[in-house]
Amino acid sequence: MERSTRQRTAIRAAIEAAARPLSPQEILDAVRVTVPEIGIATIYRNLKLLLGEAEIQAVTLPGENPRYETAHLAHHHHHHFHCVPCDRVFEVEGCPGRMDDLAPAGFVIDRHELTLYGECAECAAKGKAKARAKAAPEAAAAAATRPARAHKH
Ligand SMILES: [Zn+2]
Ligand SMILES: [Zn+2]
Ligand SMILES: [Zn+2]
Repeated sequence: MERSTRQRTAIRAAIEAAARPLSPQEILDAVRVTVPEIGIATIYRNLKLLLGEAEIQAVTLPGENPRYETAHLAHHHHHHFHCVPCDRVFEVEGCPGRMDDLAPAGFVIDRHELTLYGECAECAAKGKAKARAKAAPEAAAAAATRPARAHKH
């Protein structure tokens, strides 16, 4: 009992801390930092419980297995950004608003979903570094050995 409560608290904390939808594997990786003995079956069992208690909500992007975010995030209308290289999903705050003009004449839109695809800031920066390395391998190597920020403050 004690142990299962600790596990569930750690799982809920990991989902809350991420502030973006996490896959069960991502939850496992995050929870293992504090609860090293936890396994994927325990993650799934607790996700089911947390879903039942409406603490979390499933985010199912087209063609993807469900990811999970806090009910608190899920309750306000928002969209998601799927980074293709790292397979992580992020929150998108903006919404283009009503899209009545897109629907055929006479149709009534009740709701919409929108997923953006591309590269997150981290992956985009890596991509640029790679492109630089390709263009000028020596310059990129020199930049890599130099400290990123020589002087802080
Ligand atoms: Zn979300
Ligand atoms: Zn929207
Ligand atoms: Zn990424």
